[in-house]
Amino acid sequence: MKFLSVRGLLLMHNILSILWVLSTGVNIHAQSVTFKSVLLGITPVQIEIRDYEGEQVAFVHVHENESTSLEAGVEIAQKYGGRLVTLRHSPAGEKNRFITFRHNKKEYRVDPNRIFTDDKELLRRNIAPAKGDDPIDDTVVNMVKKLADEIWGYIADYPLIIALHNNKNEPAECKSRWLFWRKYTPESYNITSYVRKNDVADGNTLSCSDIYINPNVNNSEFFIVTERRDFSLLYQKRYNVVLQNEKPIDDGSMSVYAASRKKRYINAEAKHGKLNEQIKMLRLLLDL
Ligand SMILES: [Zn+2]
Repeated sequence: MKFLSVRGLLLMHNILSILWVLSTGVNIHAQSVTFKSVLLGITPVQIEIRDYEGEQVAFVHVHENESTSLEAGVEIAQKYGGRLVTLRHSPAGEKNRFITFRHNKKEYRVDPNRIFTDDKELLRRNIAPAKGDDPIDDTVVNMVKKLADEIWGYIADYPLIIALHNNKNEPAECKSRWLFWRKYTPESYNITSYVRKNDVADGNTLSCSDIYINPNVNNSEFFIVTERRDFSLLYQKRYNVVLQNEKPIDDGSMSVYAASRKKRYINAEAKHGKLNEQIKMLRLLLDL
């Protein structure tokens, strides 16, 4: 087969971008859409990069199933401009938080917001074999590290990184299972996860410097910021906000990684399905 020239490749890329825009029907302002496929073993993870003319801000969406935050991000990027980076890794018709991948006939699972770290042993602990507790070998750790570096490479040069996330916002409950057995499910993640409770400190509380909670804003809608200036600005707007401290516990999350690189990073968290509220939150950030 004859190799395509650079011009031919560019033309093909443009045609694919146009077809993609036509098929989704919503991204008419995207100047360009680029796809980069990274292999985890034999499993491809697709990084999708959409560039919109305007603001110098990078929106990053790593949890595929948190679709409300992606929708809000696309809406705001179309309006204000910026780069939007999202991941696709699930089989057709599925959207999953965790990336499941196969290497050497074994299956592994990793949370894509626990892969941003220079600590290889932490990264190894953050990768789980689907079955049993076999040790994770270096090849697997290195391929996950490569994915993290690739994602980070697309956003690192932007002066502001906005991470898009959704949570469930469910209360603690005790469900009856079978006749005598009950299962306790703790309260799901929300801004009060950063408040020390019952004398127990954890990664969240140990990584938090300041919190502002507006009693009239729901506990699932909040920001996590890495710079005090942003904390003050959001406090002035009376919006729920957590300031990450200067020595956060490294858990492989992007907020800790961004802070270690002195990047201005803001995580916008909203309850899944609260699209209008999340759009309002993102607008608030771009008006800071
Ligand atoms: Zn998330």
